[in-house]
Order: sequence, then C-alpha cells, then structure tokens
Amino acid sequence: MKFDRIKKKLNKVKKESHINLTGMYVIGILYIILMVVLVAVQANVRYTIRDDRIKLLSKEELVNLKKVSQQQNKVVPKTLLVVEDGDVASQKAKNLFVPVFEQMKEEYDVLDVTELNSRMFENYDKIVLAISHYPMLAETIADIKEWVRTGGNLMVAYPPEVSGSFQSLYDILGIKDSGDTTMVEGLHFNNDFMIGGTLKDYFIIDAYDCALGLSLKDDCDIYIQSTEEYPVPLVWRRDFGDGSIVVDNFGILEKAYRGIHCSAYSLLGDYCVYPVINAEAFYIDDFPSPVPGGDGTYVTRDYNMSISDFYSRIWWNDIHDLAQKYGLYYTGVIIEDYSNQVSGEFKRNEEISRFQYFGNMLLRLGGEIGIHGYNHMPLVLDNFDYKDQYDAYVQWPSVLDMRNALEEVIDFTQELYKEEELLVYVPPSNVLSGEGRKLLNETSIRSVAAVYLSTDMAYEQEFEITPEDGMINVPRITSGCIIDEYMELAALSELNFHFVNTHFLHPDDVLDEDRGAKLGWARLYGNLCDYFEWLNTACPWLRKMTGTEIAAAVQFYDLIGVDRSIKDNELFIHLDNLIDESWMLLRLNKGQKIDAIKGGSYTEVADGLYLLECNKDEVVVRFAIQE
Ligand SMILES: [Zn+2]
Repeated sequence: MKFDRIKKKLNKVKKESHINLTGMYVIGILYIILMVVLVAVQANVRYTIRDDRIKLLSKEELVNLKKVSQQQNKVVPKTLLVVEDGDVASQKAKNLFVPVFEQMKEEYDVLDVTELNSRMFENYDKIVLAISHYPMLAETIADIKEWVRTGGNLMVAYPPEVSGSFQSLYDILGIKDSGDTTMVEGLHFNNDFMIGGTLKDYFIIDAYDCALGLSLKDDCDIYIQSTEEYPVPLVWRRDFGDGSIVVDNFGILEKAYRGIHCSAYSLLGDYCVYPVINAEAFYIDDFPSPVPGGDGTYVTRDYNMSISDFYSRIWWNDIHDLAQKYGLYYTGVIIEDYSNQVSGEFKRNEEISRFQYFGNMLLRLGGEIGIHGYNHMPLVLDNFDYKDQYDAYVQWPSVLDMRNALEEVIDFTQELYKEEELLVYVPPSNVLSGEGRKLLNETSIRSVAAVYLSTDMAYEQEFEITPEDGMINVPRITSGCIIDEYMELAALSELNFHFVNTHFLHPDDVLDEDRGAKLGWARLYGNLCDYFEWLNTACPWLRKMTGTEIAAAVQFYDLIGVDRSIKDNELFIHLDNLIDESWMLLRLNKGQKIDAIKGGSYTEVADGLYLLECNKDEVVVRFAIQE
C-alpha cells in the first residue's frame, strides 16, 4: 500500500534527521507535504486490490500443459457420432456435436453412415445418429434395435427426413404418428432438468419449421416441448429393453443452442458427467474513458443534465447498486483517447480526473481494469476488409504503430492504477486481426475477451487456452441492456453447457438509438436488472469473478482430462491435470440418489443434475441403494 510506503519513508527521514536542527525543519515541511498528499490521495478514493481467488499459471506452463492434455486422450471412445457426408443438416449437426463432445471431454468417434456396420456396435455405449436419410441405415436398423434392447443407448440428433426406414424405428423411439416439419416458436420445459429451464418459456427469434410434427406413446418422458397451442415434443427419453433412447427433435443446430443439445445428449444412458467452468463475469466497455461522444438527446430528455454528469450522478450509482445486489465484480476496459490517430507519437491524455474517479470506484468494488485500446480503432492493418461496415474506422499503417499505441495505453493505465496488473484485453468493436492478436502476446495481456457468438467480422472464440502461446480466450456471451430472445436462450444454453455467464455492457447505450437510447436509461437499467434477477434465480451458485479470475477458471477447465466408469453403486471419475480445482456437472438418469462422494462435494442444481466440486484426481460418487 502507498500509505505504508509513505510511513516507511517518514521513519527513514526521522532517523537521519535527529542530528541537526535544519533536519527537523525538513521533517516538519515534509510532514506537511505528506499530509497534503494523503488528503489528496483520499480525495481520489484510493483502492485496494482484491486478491484473486484462483491464480493464472504462467504462459509457458499453459503451453506445456495444453500439449500434455492433448496427447493424453487415450481412453477408448464410448460414443459414436454417425454423420452423412455431403448432407447439409448432417454437416451442421457434426459442427455442433464435435465441439460439444470435445468440451464435455467425451471420447467419441465420428463415422460416415456408409461405413457403419453392425459389428461396430458392441464397441460403443452410445450411438448418436446425425443423419438425414435413414434409408442409408436399411441394412443395420434391425441390429440397432437389438443393440439398444440389450443395453445400447441411441440418440436421434435432429429431425431427419421421414422415410420408411425412419418409421421402422418408431416402435423403439416411442413415436405413434408423424406429420410434416412444423414451426417452433418457443421452448417449454416440462421437466426441471436444465438449469433455469422451468423459470419461463423461452422464445425463438426468426422461428421456422425446425421440428417434426409427431405424437408419442405414453411411456416417453418429454423434457422439452414447443410453446405452440398444440405442442410438439422436442426432447424426450424412453427406456427400451436394457438400453435408452433420446430423440432431439429440435432442429436448430446453432452455437447459441449448444446447451440444449448437450443437455439432450446427457439424458442418454444411466449418467453423464462433464467438466464446467463455474464462473460469471461482467465486462464494461470503454470504461473508464473520456466522456463518450454521441447523441445526448435522451439523457437531456430524462435527466436534464450533461452526458458527463449523467454518468457520474445516475449511471454509475445504478451500476454500483447492481454489483452490490448480485455480488458482481466488474472488469472495465480502458480507452485513453477517442481519437482516430493511427501513427506518429501517441500523446498522453492529461485529463485524468474521470479515469481516477471511475477507475478507482470500480477497483474499490473489487473489480479489475483491462485494456481496450489507446483509441477505439481495432488492431487491424490495411489488409483487413471492413466490408464497408465501419466507415469511421482507420486501419493502422504498421504493426509498429499498433505496438506504440498499445504500449502507450498500457503505460498510461499502469501509471493511474499502479498496483493493478493489466491482464485482460477486449478488442474494440470485437474486431481483431492475426497481427493484432500476435502483438497482444508480447504485452502483459493474458486473456482476450471477444465474442462467443459470431456476427459478421467479429472475433469469435471458445472458452479455451490458445495452444500456441497460452493466451486464454474468455468470450462474452450476452451484451447490452436489451436482452432479446436469442440472447436469453444463449444464456440458458451456456449455463447448462459450460455453467458460465459472461455479459458485456456498453455505457453509451443511452446515447445510441440502435441500442435502445430512446427507451431511456431507467427502462434499460430495468431490463438489465431483470436479466440479472433471472440469472441469479436460475443459477445462484455461479462464482462471480473478474476477467482475470474467470481466465484462471477457464485454464483449469480446459486442461482437465476426464475418464469415467460406473460399477454397481459407484461412479468413478478419474481426472488428469487436476491442479487447483475442477467443477463438473453430473446428470443421473435412473433416479439414483447420491449417498456420499469421496474426493469432492456436490450441490443439486436441477432435477437429477448435480454440480460437483472435485478436489482429488480420483472422485467416487456412491449412490444410495434403490429399493
Ligand atoms: Zn468499446
């Protein structure tokens, strides 16, 4: 702490000075100066840095451990994903399920349907059919049924074309009748199997005919159905012989809905267990920064004050309250200057009072300061194509210019917040080039937080360590104050897939009509509060983290290797690369009740779904003996 340093200095001066009188005067004057400094420091609201609860490993360690973890997967695959080359829907399903299995650390094989033969079945516990044309299975259908009857677990990954071959599976799938594809306007959860699912119905933006209209036998457990007046079953499970069936009749195979499909898959078999991140982070765009330019019409309309006053008197108070209410730790990303300068000397911004005020307040709340840029020009060179979308943006003439600007903002920020480590970077407008990304690795930055869901030229990411340089990717999932149906579903999906939430807020939403300025800040803030109320109700267990802490959580999540097996009343989870922590979601499909757990602890987070905290690399979950 600065105060301690000042006291130490003072003590030193005292020792040296008591030999002569001039020294005494010097001390007196020094003391007065120091008091003045201390008062001034107080006025600037000194912050204390909160200790991160989990630590980042070094880049070198991450590169090495990532390599090790990639070589480790030697477990025999238990899941077979059957795809159909050249079919568009099958390709989409493959693009969805492969990363889902990878991230669930499920061992799987992918096979083209033309290569499938019955002799392979015995090697697998689970077969996921991601194909459109079931006549291609004609020769194996009878064997598939037999395999399920004797204990195999079969999933239909998306609604296929109805054919005689598909219909011949109806007796094991539990389908009575089917019709045409049909509209799904929204999802209704009949069963509380997904975190947050039963809190409300979730609607689909740009809905289309994405499910098969069908009716089911009574012995199917329907987990999700459509919100239509005559609902269509979307996800169901059925036991057949010693095996099980899951049909995922929800045909939207996009990244935002991964969690729905991951949850459907987890219903297959007796149990499913997969690692998760367990974290919630909140990033504030351009914060602190100079007063944002923009149209203050609605600020004047509602508050009759300047944009600058609005931020310090209204906006910050509300944002502060939100953090207090939901225990959030903000990560603000700094902009030094709103210029469009891309070359020459990058001048220091001397107007620092706003930076001190907001930055220190944020740090006092236990938050973190990250880097957004010297200005708001994305780190791209002349070779980058903006496709005429960002007319106001100027490209950087050289890597050296980008580097100079980046060094300036890092130095500026470090001067302002001396004890803060600058580890998080958010690319302006979510645009980042390969050259810019490479440059970041040469600075103090350890985590890049761009976007999870792709739009146009946005820098899309997964929650992972970059194998080449150890940079940790922590994409933001939702943003803004207008949480539309798409974002709602994406948030729900990610609670269940990664047990994570990352939100991004633009302080200048109130200045931008496209982002809801006309609604007024009170309404926008109300929306934001509603979203966090939903999140907190759905998933109160999420650990609230800063940008660096969540990066640390992602590193442990990404490195973990999982091997699982079940025997009698015990589930064995073997973990590779357990360093500080590991979190898992465990789904139990046979009504098993947990009696005790060795090497960890658990919390029930939905019906039959448990959050496990594992602290040993051998975890044993023992089930109560069922009557
Ligand atoms: Zn920004």
